[in-house]
Amino acid sequence: MKINEIFYSLQGEGHYTGTPAVFVRFAGCNLRCWFCDTNFETGLEMSEDEIVSKVLKYPTRYVVITGGEPTLQLSASLCDKLHAHGRYLMMETNGTRPLPEGCLVDWITCSPKLSNIVKEKRELVPLSIGHIDELKVVFEDSESQDIALYEEIPASEYRLQPCDMQDPQRNQEIIDKTINYILQHPQWKLSLQTHKILGVR
Ligand code: SF4
Repeated sequence: MKINEIFYSLQGEGHYTGTPAVFVRFAGCNLRCWFCDTNFETGLEMSEDEIVSKVLKYPTRYVVITGGEPTLQLSASLCDKLHAHGRYLMMETNGTRPLPEGCLVDWITCSPKLSNIVKEKRELVPLSIGHIDELKVVFEDSESQDIALYEEIPASEYRLQPCDMQDPQRNQEIIDKTINYILQHPQWKLSLQTHKILGVR
């Protein structure tokens, strides 16, 4: 398996914000989102046992399976091995691919993406992931982003996360608009990238 990195930190976003977790970041993605802030191209080949061994070095039971797009490489046997050691698996996916056969994960956060090849005619990239615990949408403050599209997707929890524009003034505008949208549409909750606020990974 090609792994971009494995590290220990706090989960910065979504339902499990603040939870100490080992992040297993798989290399490779099937999409190319304009706002992507993840280097997913590079990586080292690691065996499942090497991955498990590195995860077990840390004291938490929480493991974030992320990427890139982890469904490109995740295997049932890796899930089973981590579960056998009592680990709780949380996956972050763009939802465009089904879970590989036999994979059991405990919590699925899906961040659906928009096709933005033609900015004025953006549509949701179709979802293939079966079950979603948490739907997390990056709020872009764009006229062509229709948040109502996402409300049709079945999920247990809905979170809006302000897009990081790498510009403090622009970010504050987007945060204000995100909060305002949530106050008007209370099925959504706010997700912040708290790891960036705190200056941790
Ligand atoms: S799906 Fe995620 S990792 Fe892939 S390009 Fe989009 S933001 Fe980046």
